[in-house]
Formats: sequence, C-alpha cells, structure tokens
Amino acid sequence: MKYIFDFDDVLFLNTAKFKKHMYTCIEKAGVSHEVALKYYNEVRDKGFSMRDFVNAIYKNEKDIKISEEELYKEIMHEIKNFINQDLLNLIKGIGKENCYIVTHGKEEYQLEKIDRTSIAPLFCEIIVVQDSKKQSIENICAKNNTEKVVFVDDKEKRFKDLDFEKFPNLKTILYTGQDIETLRREINS
Ligand SMILES: [Mg+2]
Repeated sequence: MKYIFDFDDVLFLNTAKFKKHMYTCIEKAGVSHEVALKYYNEVRDKGFSMRDFVNAIYKNEKDIKISEEELYKEIMHEIKNFINQDLLNLIKGIGKENCYIVTHGKEEYQLEKIDRTSIAPLFCEIIVVQDSKKQSIENICAKNNTEKVVFVDDKEKRFKDLDFEKFPNLKTILYTGQDIETLRREINS
C-alpha cells in the first residue's frame, strides 16, 4: 500500500498551532492582530509565503520593536514543534518507500517548512503543486497500479477532480483530526 499525505493541517498543525504562534509573535513585536490579519489576507490571495507576509508588514508599519529578520526567525523557528506527532508515529511504521507528500503552495515556502520539521527522510517523494493535485496523485496511482493508494488531505476540494474510474486503486480520506485508530480503520476499510 502507498500513502500520500498533505502537509498543512495534516502532517503539520498549521491552523491549530502555527498560525496562533505567528500572530503571537507579531503582536509581541507591536502590530495588532487586526492589522496583521489585513496583510495576511492580502498576501494569501497572491499565494502565501511567510517572507512576503513579514515583508508586507514592515513595508507599511512603523515602530515595530524588532527587525524584520528577527521576527521572521522567531516565527519560523517554532515550526519543528508543530508536527502532528500521532501521524508521524503512524508514518514511521509504514516505511519511506511507501510514503509521499503532495502539498499545495509556494514551493520555496512549503519546502522550507518541511525542511524545518525534519520529516523529509520519512518520504520517498515530496511534491509541491501550485494548482490541482490531480496530476501528481494520479501519477502515483499509475506507477503503483497493483497497490492500493491512500490519499489523506484536510480539504475535500482536493478530491473533486480525481479520476476514480481510471484509478480504482485510489482511496481518499478526509482528515479532520480523527484519532489514529479511526484513521487506521478508514485506511483498511
Ligand atoms: Mg491541507
């Protein structure tokens, strides 16, 4: 069996932990949550990266207590602590040759986050896509057509354009933070 995992909000606790930490750092530096949110939304619409986000804040806001580089480092330094440990334990038992990451976002930023979590050696391939995951997921299914391929993502929309008729070996699982035993049952059902 092959396993494909999404990164943000699956392997990495982006919304639950990292974004909260990010806003805490920014507020501590003297920028209110409302102001930070405004820049966040602007940058997100163009394809989010932490560099662009921090840059947008410093370009417009004055009287920030620390330097742009210090704030960037403070935010990014904690990434290693926000990995989904339950999933990580599951993956360690699966074997590198069976595990893939297919993640969506700006390539440089996604790869920096993955690098900082130190989980890359647990995966045989890490793919960053800008648009649909269809091509990447279906390529993995085609290459492994004698095996079941399980694709775990927290966004239902990532499943919408997949060709389940052409790839009957593909099974999708919507990750909503379910416990590992539930996830195991869903994988094996
Ligand atoms: Mg996600």
